[in-house]
Amino acid sequence: CGIVGYVSRADQTRDHGALDVVLEGLRRLEYRGYDSAGVAVLSNGGVVSAKKAGKLSNLLAELEEHPLPAAQTGIGHTRWATHGGPTDVNAHPHLADEGKLALIHNGIIENFSELKTKLLEQGVSFLSSTDTEVAAALLGEEYRAASDLPQADRLTVAMQRACQQLEGAFTLLAVHAEQPDVVVAARRNSPLVVGLGEGENFLGSDVSGFIDYTRRAVELGQDQIVTITPETVVITDFFGAPAQGKEYEVNWDA
Ligand code: GLU
Repeated sequence: CGIVGYVSRADQTRDHGALDVVLEGLRRLEYRGYDSAGVAVLSNGGVVSAKKAGKLSNLLAELEEHPLPAAQTGIGHTRWATHGGPTDVNAHPHLADEGKLALIHNGIIENFSELKTKLLEQGVSFLSSTDTEVAAALLGEEYRAASDLPQADRLTVAMQRACQQLEGAFTLLAVHAEQPDVVVAARRNSPLVVGLGEGENFLGSDVSGFIDYTRRAVELGQDQIVTITPETVVITDFFGAPAQGKEYEVNWDA
């Protein structure tokens, strides 16, 4: 499927907002999946999302009718359904932590049913039949459990702890309302690339997700987590140890 993420610092001179970047990226990645499309942006202390079964054009029509607020941070997804039919409810993003956390996913969580059973026992409820919503709920639980950590570390550490428990193939991108200028992403057996900008940074399942904005890319290695803010890109492994991606310049014409 197609995955895009974006963070930027407030800048009056920039001609694109988070939603523009995310939708343009999804348009370029649409060939990777068209069962549904969805976006989430961080705005006014909350997460606002929209998702729609079918092609990206269905989501665009929905956004015409119900526009999302301007935002500096956003994520977007086009789905190739593996678990759960191609419906609005099964579309990504999936929300957790009382709607404050949004997650998108490329791939398959192999052990989702064991994890789901455990989470159901803990009182978590689910709306969709996807494997992805289980990863979202697990991340939400780990985020809550990390309440003793400095706020700036919480989503990253929660992602590390969630990934230690996930099996299969996944590229995950998550945002949380309490960290409005952060996107945290992870990968195992599924691709993830960072795009480096000036006062803005990008994520994509491949470079076409951000090629209109930058050609400086960092390819993440296996089992890595990356936290992007408008000014920083920090990479670790699933246990929090510092790690490095492979930086390169994209030199083909889009
Ligand atoms: N397994 C997930 C789902 O079916 C993600 C599929 C994808 O890679 O788009 O929702």
